[in-house]
Amino acid sequence: MKARDVILLGAPGAGKGTQAKLLSQELGILHISTGDILRGAVAAGTPLGKAAREYMDRGDLVPDDLMVDLVADRLGREDCAAGVLLDGFPRTLPQAEALASVLGTMARGEGVALAIDVPDEELVRRLSSRRTCRACAGTFSLDSLPAERSDCPQCGGELYQRADDAPEAVAQRLRVYAAQTKPLLDYYQERGRLIRVNGVGTIEEIAGRALAALRTEGAG
Ligand code: AMP
Repeated sequence: MKARDVILLGAPGAGKGTQAKLLSQELGILHISTGDILRGAVAAGTPLGKAAREYMDRGDLVPDDLMVDLVADRLGREDCAAGVLLDGFPRTLPQAEALASVLGTMARGEGVALAIDVPDEELVRRLSSRRTCRACAGTFSLDSLPAERSDCPQCGGELYQRADDAPEAVAQRLRVYAAQTKPLLDYYQERGRLIRVNGVGTIEEIAGRALAALRTEGAG
């Protein structure tokens, strides 16, 4: 059977991580988040983590060559054979081109790009109220947590604000998205590989729209 690869696109704060978890389960494919892999590498102090940390804390992108090697290596592993849901990659045109070539050499087809659309004001609001669990990497909105709660409702771990969710880094991440990642919408549109869904609503509503769109496309 041909692998079913889904490339999740959307600005920081569009809900890619949350949707990726639900959709990968529903579709029976592996969720690969390059942000989670990098945060794990930073926490473990690996050479990749040391190289990536400064870029990440500033809200800048990690260089393409590091990212392409990381993803090409990951996609070559056995657990990716049935398909993957890529969350956070590609983020630049060179990364998209490299991905097409890696998927091509693996004879997996080009995959389908699913873009989650959310207006800018809503992105800023979501990112600045986001808290992340150090233990399970779950994310929560301050709006949904009881006041002063500092432990994870899921596992009891410590909740913190990611350095790149602080206001200056949020502004920088949105600038970087507009300049470097948004052009990918045209890239996939031109190839007839783009599906767009409205990313405003409840988590379940958005997942429902995404699954319906993927199924129509024959990707689900
Ligand atoms: P995310 O959790 O996807 O928002 O990623 C957090 C940070 O990791 C980003 O702001 C970048 O610094 C870095 N990062 C994740 N994926 C990529 C990528 N594909 N290319 C470059 N940098 C990335």
